[in-house]
Amino acid sequence: MDEVKSLNFLEEIVEKDLASGKHQSILTRFPPEPNGYLHIGHAKSICLNFGLAKRYNGKTNLRFDDTNPVTEDTEYVESIKNDIKWLGFEWADEFYASDYFGKLYDFAVELIKQGLAYVDDSTAEQIAAMKGTPTEPGKDSPYRSRTVEENLDLFERMKNGEFKEGEKTLRAKVDMASPNMQLRDPLMYRIKFAHHHRTGNQWCIYPMYDFAHGQSDAIEHITHSICTLEFSSHRPLYDWFIQQLSLFPSHQYEFARLNLTYTVMSKRKLLQLVNEKHVTGWDDPRMPTISGFRRRGYTPESIREFCDRVGIAQRENLIDVALLEFCIREHLNRIAQRRMVVFDPVKVVITNWPAGKVDEIESENNPEDENAGNRTVPFSGELYIERDDFMEEAPKKYFRLAIGQYVRLKSGYVIKGESVTKDADGNITEIQATYLPESRSGSDTSGLKVQGTLHWVSAQHAVKITVREYDRLFQVENVGASDLDFKELLNPNSLKVVEAYAEPALLKAHGDERYQFMRKGYFTLDKDSKGTDLIFNRTVGLKDTWAKAAK
Ligand code: ATP
Ligand code: MG
Repeated sequence: MDEVKSLNFLEEIVEKDLASGKHQSILTRFPPEPNGYLHIGHAKSICLNFGLAKRYNGKTNLRFDDTNPVTEDTEYVESIKNDIKWLGFEWADEFYASDYFGKLYDFAVELIKQGLAYVDDSTAEQIAAMKGTPTEPGKDSPYRSRTVEENLDLFERMKNGEFKEGEKTLRAKVDMASPNMQLRDPLMYRIKFAHHHRTGNQWCIYPMYDFAHGQSDAIEHITHSICTLEFSSHRPLYDWFIQQLSLFPSHQYEFARLNLTYTVMSKRKLLQLVNEKHVTGWDDPRMPTISGFRRRGYTPESIREFCDRVGIAQRENLIDVALLEFCIREHLNRIAQRRMVVFDPVKVVITNWPAGKVDEIESENNPEDENAGNRTVPFSGELYIERDDFMEEAPKKYFRLAIGQYVRLKSGYVIKGESVTKDADGNITEIQATYLPESRSGSDTSGLKVQGTLHWVSAQHAVKITVREYDRLFQVENVGASDLDFKELLNPNSLKVVEAYAEPALLKAHGDERYQFMRKGYFTLDKDSKGTDLIFNRTVGLKDTWAKAAK
C-alpha cells in the first residue's frame, strides 16, 4: 500500500471549504512584486499555491503586485514568468495590481463616502509620533474629522497632482486605540510622482500594499490567499476592507517563509550582491535565485521535491541547505550521463601496450537507467589518472594504484604499477605500468579480484575543459542572525576555477544535459562556453564534504 501522507493545514482547510460548499472550486494566486528575480523562497510559495490548486482541481492566477513604481521593471516580469514555467507550473490568468488602479480608486472614494477614510495633511513623522505603542493607544490626527465632502475634494485633487509628495495621504478610519497597530488608521494612498512600468505617468497616487492586496484578491475571486507569517497582523485589516466594501470574501492564510542556511533570501539584499558585483548577475550559479540554480544545473524536479520535503510550517525555521543538495543529488544520480574527467593529472605509460594502438572501450552512460545506452571511450598506452589515485607504497586498505598493486581502469583493463619517474624536486612526472590484455571489462578472463576502480582519460584524446567549482556564498549558517552586515559574511572562496582533462565525448555536451564526472560530482555546461572552449559548473559534489571540513 502507498504511504498515506497526512494533510497539511491548508489542505485541511480547503477540503473543509469544498465539503461544506463554501467554495465550489478553489482559486489561489502567486503575487510577486516585479522588483527582482525569484529566489528559492518564492519557489516554495509557487509550489504551495500552484500545488494546492492542482491537487483540488482549482486554478492559480499570476498577479504582479506592482504598486510601487520606483523599484519595478519589465525585465523582472519576464524573468518571473520564465522561472514559473521552468518550475513546471501554468497559471490561469495573468494580472497586474496596476490593472486595478481605477477600481481601487473607486473603492477608496466609496470608503470616504461611508466616512471610513480621510485625507491627512500630517507628515510621516507626525503620523508615526501619533501612532502610540503596542501598550499605549495612539492619538487622533487633527484631520481625522474632516467632512466627507472635504475628503472627496482633497482626494480627487491628490489624484490630479495638485499636491506635492508627502503633503497628503489617504488613511482608513479604523481605530486609533486598537491593540493591533495595523488598525490604527493605516495609510491607503500616498503621492508619488514616479513613472510606472505599465501605467506610465497616468497616476501620481499609489495604493499601499494593504489596500491593494486584499482588494485585488477579491476582484479576482481568490478563495485562499496564502502569504507569509509577517502578514498575520495585517489579516484583520484585510478583512476590514473587504467587509466595508462588501466584496468577494477572499481569505488570507499564513505560513512560515523559507529560510535556508548559508543563504540570504531577500531581493533587496540579492540586488545589492548584483549591483556591487559580489556575483556576476542574478543568475550567478552561487545565487539562491531560481535562475542561479538553473544555471548551476539544478532540475525543476529537485526543487519541487525539496519544497515538498520542507513542508508547510506555521513557525519560523531555518532549513539546512544540505536538504536541497540531497534532493538534487538524488535526482541527478538517476538522470546524469556518466563521463570521465581527470582534474589533477599524472601520466601513466603502459609499457606493454602495442605502439599506436587505440581501443574503443564501451562504457555505460548511466547504470541507474537501462535506456541510457553506452558511449565509446578511447583507451591508449598513455593515460591520465588523478595524482592522488597513486602512491608509491600502498598503506593497508589503499586500493588505488601503487607499485606492485593492481587496479581496474573503469570499463577498461586491469593495470599494475611498476615504476615511476621523478623530477629534480622529487615530484612524480610519470608512472610506468603494465596491463593485463585478458582483463578487459565485459570479457575479463584474468580471474583477478581487484578492489579499486579508477577513472582515467587517454592523454592524446583528452579535451581540456574549464570547471567552475562553487562553495557556499556565505561563511556562516544563519546569516540573518549575525550582528555583522551580511556582506562581511561572504565566503571569499566561493568560486574556484580549475582546468581538467575530459574524455572526448564531452565535446558533444549541451546545456540541457546533466553529467556525473565519475568520482567527482555532478556538472552541467555553462552558457559562457564557446565552440570547443567548454566551461562546466559543478552543481553539487557526490557526497556532503562540507559538514566534515567545517568541523
Ligand atoms: P523579498 O523579501 O525576498 O523581496 P517578498 O515577500 O517581498 O520577498 P514578493 O515578490 O512580495 O517578495 O513575494 C511573492 C510571494 O512569495 C509572496 O506571497 C511571498 O509571501 C512569497 N515569498 C517571498 N519570500 C518567501 C520565502 N522566503 N518563503 C516563502 N514564501 C516567500
Ligand atoms: Mg514584497
